[in-house]
Amino acid sequence: MKKLVIILCKALAIILLLGFGVHWALQILGKQNPVWSIADKAYQSFFHKTSNPSVSEFKSIMGGMALGVCHPYTDPYNLSLLKEGNIGWIRIDIPSEVPFQVDSVGNPVLDEEGRIIETGRYRAFKEKCRFFRENGLKVMAITPYPDDWLDEVGEIEMFRNGGEAFSDKFLRSVEARCSYLATDLTAGDKLVNCFQISNELTVPKWQGALTLEQICQYQHIQMKAMHETCRCAGVPIGYNIACVGAGMLDYPVRMQDFKDDFDYVALDLYLGCFEGIMKSTRYFDAMLRSLWQISHKPIMLNEFGYISAGNPKDEHERASYLMDTFGETFNTEEKIKANIGPFLDHWESLIGKESSLIREARRRLQTEGPESAADYVFSSSEISHLYKALPEGYRLRKFDHTEEGQAAFYTDVIDRISRLDFLCGIFCYCYSDSDSCYQCGQKGCPVETGWGLVSIPKGIPDTEMNENTVRRKPSYYAVSDAYGRILARQQ
Ligand SMILES: [Zn+2]
Repeated sequence: MKKLVIILCKALAIILLLGFGVHWALQILGKQNPVWSIADKAYQSFFHKTSNPSVSEFKSIMGGMALGVCHPYTDPYNLSLLKEGNIGWIRIDIPSEVPFQVDSVGNPVLDEEGRIIETGRYRAFKEKCRFFRENGLKVMAITPYPDDWLDEVGEIEMFRNGGEAFSDKFLRSVEARCSYLATDLTAGDKLVNCFQISNELTVPKWQGALTLEQICQYQHIQMKAMHETCRCAGVPIGYNIACVGAGMLDYPVRMQDFKDDFDYVALDLYLGCFEGIMKSTRYFDAMLRSLWQISHKPIMLNEFGYISAGNPKDEHERASYLMDTFGETFNTEEKIKANIGPFLDHWESLIGKESSLIREARRRLQTEGPESAADYVFSSSEISHLYKALPEGYRLRKFDHTEEGQAAFYTDVIDRISRLDFLCGIFCYCYSDSDSCYQCGQKGCPVETGWGLVSIPKGIPDTEMNENTVRRKPSYYAVSDAYGRILARQQ
């Protein structure tokens, strides 16, 4: 009898686990309908509904779903393209030297009449915001990275090598600057309509040697300094997560300790570009839904995109690329690894300048030795620059790294995720292709050149530039049409 009870209990546990498990998996992967009633009860008990009053309120403050693009330029012809493309929001960085210089204890430097002296770059940033505002576009502005402000108060070592705790001077300077930003940028007609508090701080290059706890403290001190002013002005503040890895979900869980001090949480996701594991656009749904379940806050997608070039090269293509580009001295990976110092010199001479990638490789060569420098150049995150091609497997099923593949990707993702009730904003990365990769400095390196919706030709005098000299890529039309469908549904 006892045995029978144990067997029955085990059977019940398995049925329950299957019921909950399958339902959770379906929820996360975007299938809305529960499979059977017991799972439906689990949903009622354990999961938040797909929307709540805070979402409706947030959308009404934002003026509907924010449909945006990152880093556009302020030329009039680009403005026409933004408007024609149904783009209502732009997302830009607040420059790091802002908004004013601080003295030796972290307080603002004042002029003779006791007024804060704003820096030139901050004034230029405000001009940019004013231009967009006057032309009917809303602005999401991103506050600086911790290393920018640590550097300014002479404490960059904390970012490079870690440390026990932030100094009072640093915390006071962050607090004073953020408080000023909130007041200055939300006054009157508002130069900024939404803030993102720093960017992707769990990505190693932005996190540096800071612990996740210190990252959260840095975020919280900015939020506390800004939230009340922003709330009164009707300007939401939030933060974004990025980088698929251990810290990615731990970060928003920890940030929930400060949930009263921010309004939204955002995801940045580049599937099939910087990783080769998640092969389906369905993971956008999965990640957005997870973030919603963790935070119970309005959710935004603040960066996403798909590189329109750089399909992986096979072994034969890689071998000929090394030979054609670097010559016989460095025509194999073994030769490059064995002579990494001279290789970096040679590569730099071909590029014509020291790039941040080569600078970092040299730093490792000097401080940690040749093996560390070679490991860096050949690491999965950097090797795309060497071959001007993404590593094998770095692509989503159904979507090639071509201009057509990029367009199909945007249609697929935007049409689907825009139906998630809790989603309040979408920002494509980015507005235009770049001429050269900002990490390696090479022209035509797909890593940081092929993200755009448009391609702006070089060498044409400004007076001859207009919206027809800018080439609209297929992705421009895909995003414009998808945004148009969202706007039609909102009316
Ligand atoms: Zn590159």
